[in-house]
Formats: sequence, structure tokens, C-alpha cells
Amino acid sequence: MLGHIVVPCPAEAIQKLTDEQRDIDAEADFGDRVKLAEKRWEGRTGENKAFNAVRETLGRMRPGGYFCCYCEQGITSAIEHIWPKSLYPEKAFVWENYLLACFRCNTERKGSKWRVFDAAGGATDATKPPTGIAVFIDPRQENPADYIYLDFVDWKLKPHPDIHPRAKVRAEYTVDTVLDLNDRAMCTARNNLFQSYAGFLYEYRKAKQSGRTINLNLFRENLQAKIHPTVWHEMKRQHTHRKLMPLFAGIEEVLDW
Ligand SMILES: [Zn+2]
Repeated sequence: MLGHIVVPCPAEAIQKLTDEQRDIDAEADFGDRVKLAEKRWEGRTGENKAFNAVRETLGRMRPGGYFCCYCEQGITSAIEHIWPKSLYPEKAFVWENYLLACFRCNTERKGSKWRVFDAAGGATDATKPPTGIAVFIDPRQENPADYIYLDFVDWKLKPHPDIHPRAKVRAEYTVDTVLDLNDRAMCTARNNLFQSYAGFLYEYRKAKQSGRTINLNLFRENLQAKIHPTVWHEMKRQHTHRKLMPLFAGIEEVLDW
């Protein structure tokens, strides 16, 4: 789960979203706003140019070019409302509330599970309408890497040890409770990716030392077109870690890739 590459959405599509949202916001009652938001959302499909543009733009923001913005390995299936429209109808047609997610993350895991911090600072299920600050980390508004790091021993995403207790609650809730990003298959995949990246770096160093001509673009493309881009991002971020330092020795230029 990375902070987003943001690609601007075409103005015409934004206008269409704004028009839809205006109608929803005009309803006086919360329940009616939710109902209209859901009805309009259901009705958006088909040959709708604006939504095709929204989907196409979101497609260009996916990690590795194809994968789910949450788990980074599932194939994307749907436009995900980061803030659920059943609780925040005022965000149903807001561009900044969208990303592409896979079925597992969007439907099976996240659903409408949503917690907010109550007055005493505890995380509780949201009421309708919700009050209080959301617990889930919104990857379009915040950088998840400010909250979490990859542990290169057990391949889990964990809260930074020195963050504020509330930030720790947010990290654990988002990564473990909601999205379950530390299941065995995902940790194994991250480990495999690491081995693969380490292999690339080894080959690159060997080629560089022998003075052979290196196809740099090919190396870069290979590094960037994979599932779990967080692994590569974290390898660079934690390059002074004892396990990682030898991989980058003498080829520090790759830290910019
Ligand atoms: Zn996913």
C-alpha cells in the first residue's frame, strides 16, 4: 500500500462528478442522501463517457500498472470508495475518494467496515452519520509509508515503532483488521519479490564492474513492473539496513530508480 501516483482526471469527467454530487448534497436528510448516492452510483454504468474517463485515469494510478491499490497483487475489479458512500454520501462522487481495488480488498475485506475515534480516543464502529476522525488511512490523502514499514525479516507491514499511539492504531486497523495485508501468501510474495530484486541488483553490479554495456531501461522497467512495488520502495528507503546495505554497495545510483 503506497501513497498514490496522482494523474489528473479530465475536467469534463470532474464536471460530471460535481453535477451528480450537487444533487445528492441537495437532499435534506442523511438517509435520503445515502439512498440517492447509491441509486446514482448503480445508474452510472454503461456507455458513460465520464465514468470511462474516471476509470481510465484511475487505471493509470495503479501500482505496477495493473494491480490493486491496497494489496498490490490482486487484479482490479471495481472503483473503490475509500470513504464508503453508505456513511459519507457527500463523498460518493468525489474524484479524490476513488481508487481501483481488487474484489478481495474492496468487497470481501473492506465492505462497509468503518471505524472512527470516539471522544475518549477509542476506535469504535461508525454511527450514521459518522462523527469523529476516521481510523482507516486514506492513501489518496495520506502517505501510508508515514505509518508503516516493511519488516525484512518476516515480510509483514508494521507500524513504525516511534509513531504516536493513535497513528499505530490507524496503521494496525488499516493493514491487519480491514485489509489483512499480512496473510501468509502476501508475506511469501514479498519475500519472493525481494529475492528477485536482489538478483537484479547482483546482475547489474556484475555487468557494471565488468564494463559491459547495460540496457538501463530494461533494468528499470523490470524493477517497476511488478506486484508489491512497496518491496522495492522499502528496499530503497531502508537501504542502510544491515541486510540491504550490501545489495546497494557500489551501485548507489539505483536508489534513484
Ligand atoms: Zn487487493
